[in-house]
Amino acid sequence: MKEQLLNIKENALKEINKYEKMDEIEKLRVKYLGKKGEITNILKGMGKLSAEERPVIGKVANEVRGEIEKAISDKKEEIKIIEKNEKLKAEVLDVTMPGKKIKIGKKHPITQMMDEVKYIFTGMGFKVAEGPEIETVFNNFDALNAPKNHPSRDMSDTFYIDENLLLRTQTSPVQIRTMKSAKPPIKIIAPGRCFRFDEPDATHSPMFHQIEGLVVDKNVTMAELKGTLDAFVKQLFGENTKTKFRPHNFPFTEPSAEVDVTCFKCKGKGCSVCKGEGWIEILGAGMVHPNVLKNCGIDPEEYSGFAFGMGVDRIAMLKYEIDDIRLLFENDMRFLNQF
Ligand SMILES: [Zn+2]
Repeated sequence: MKEQLLNIKENALKEINKYEKMDEIEKLRVKYLGKKGEITNILKGMGKLSAEERPVIGKVANEVRGEIEKAISDKKEEIKIIEKNEKLKAEVLDVTMPGKKIKIGKKHPITQMMDEVKYIFTGMGFKVAEGPEIETVFNNFDALNAPKNHPSRDMSDTFYIDENLLLRTQTSPVQIRTMKSAKPPIKIIAPGRCFRFDEPDATHSPMFHQIEGLVVDKNVTMAELKGTLDAFVKQLFGENTKTKFRPHNFPFTEPSAEVDVTCFKCKGKGCSVCKGEGWIEILGAGMVHPNVLKNCGIDPEEYSGFAFGMGVDRIAMLKYEIDDIRLLFENDMRFLNQF
């Protein structure tokens, strides 16, 4: 019996040496040490042994079992290390491989234009103010001194939600909100999306972008308005850009003006961008109407102010020479990647 046990040990150690896979070693463990394994089988015959032989064989059996167990656990450790090394080798980083280029998006031309205008005005001390795109009819029209019969209030020009709410047609209600909630001095620009009931064509879109500015303080004059806009267009279009104020009529300002700048492309000689005029209209402006100040709880005897507004889409189209506003909103990457 001792002979048999030693044979089993020898075979087991040989076999363990031969295999290199975890599952193969596990099979060997079952084969030799399991409940139905070879050692157990032999020990079943212990009953036939004499009382003297039994402890001797028992001792040999334990030694054999111990050695096989140790050989198996050593082998398992060895396999674990080999597998780990192989895994590391497979995952090794080849730093000489050419990298994968990551595509980074960029800002939409309208956003770029907005940022540029915001940058110029914040540099002059203006704060950026924002307001909701769904507005009250009061903030969008009444507070801005728009008479009840003003054409812009028509159902065919404005998206009404109900009789008191609409999609704002301009960013001017942000001026109203600011004047109602803050005391002068006020110096803000209000950038944002606006909506009008326009059939889309090359120059019209039912959704467009505006930036308006508002200054309210004691003794604010038209000269300051002209100086501010002059400084603005020089930064936006170039140092030699000139401005021209033409009288106009807006309900919310008095006096009101439309502001032209010398064409940034031909410098005033006349070209396709300025349609041969040498001048391009880009802004509406004026001194805040006393009624608007009154509507917001500001005393027009004590305070005065100026306001201006521009269409961001229009300026972007002029600056980037885009001939159709719809291109800005189609999200065609071939178009957008040019800016
Ligand atoms: Zn021109």
